[in-house]
Amino acid sequence: MQILRDISSMKAWVKAQKATSRTIGFVPTMGALHEGHLHLLDTSRSKNDLTVCSIFVNPAQFNNAQDLAKYPRTFDKDAALLTQRGCDALFYPSTGEMYPEPSSVSIDFGELDKILEGKFRPGHFNGVALVVSKLLHIIAPDRAYFGQKDYQQFVIISTLVRNLQFDVQLICVPTIRESSGLALSSRNLRLSEEERTQATVLYQALKRVRQELLSGAMLQNILPEVETMFAAAGAQLEYLALADRKNLAILDRVTVPEECMLLVAAYIGEVRLIDNMFLTQGD
Ligand code: AMP
Repeated sequence: MQILRDISSMKAWVKAQKATSRTIGFVPTMGALHEGHLHLLDTSRSKNDLTVCSIFVNPAQFNNAQDLAKYPRTFDKDAALLTQRGCDALFYPSTGEMYPEPSSVSIDFGELDKILEGKFRPGHFNGVALVVSKLLHIIAPDRAYFGQKDYQQFVIISTLVRNLQFDVQLICVPTIRESSGLALSSRNLRLSEEERTQATVLYQALKRVRQELLSGAMLQNILPEVETMFAAAGAQLEYLALADRKNLAILDRVTVPEECMLLVAAYIGEVRLIDNMFLTQGD
């Protein structure tokens, strides 16, 4: 696996590969890789001649300095995992390389970046949109792979790519979970053993609420029991919402199950976790 740290060498690598008409799949990450990231890599490898991964902890998408400082960084292990799993190139730029000057570009996504994660993490999606635009510009992949776990991010990036007419196909890959149901996340590295058990409440709550909504309940009537579940697990619920899968418009009940999903965010100790589930997903 080639490791490229600057934009010009990354672009030169891409140019050389494209000259031989090979297709490129791209998997952007912030590192501290786990099986969820590696599943994106496997999915890309199965559909493209070459796969590029990136590792960049993007300061622009952190609205909390503590969260940025504490974000796990495990580069040597990550590079070994990517090599083992057949990644062709790793883009690993410094912050200075990606932000030679502070960016003043901001993109307004309307309601979409003000609800759910956007409400609790102001500026987060603007930072995501900025870095993904830069990465798509540098790597110019045929396909880019994102996880369903960060579903709102996927909808934001789909909007960005459509609006700015990037020539790339986006693929949303289902969430990989532990056997306990806990969605794999780099942030899980910050959980103690006990907190890992507490954290399964996100998945348990999603499954329970899904079942009740599918039996015709209104979300607002279920929320008190959801709050009790989180409190009993020692977790702090930020939101649990029902939304339209297409545009994340908030709903209060299920009309067409295939079109709906649940999204949740909660603190387990100091660690903020998110998860989601489609109403018709076979989890
Ligand atoms: P991150 O490094 O957390 O920015 O994640 C990089 C990519 O991996 C994003 O597209 C995430 O949605 C995806 N991802 C993170 N966790 C999982 C998971 N458990 N299953 C599948 N994809 C994931």
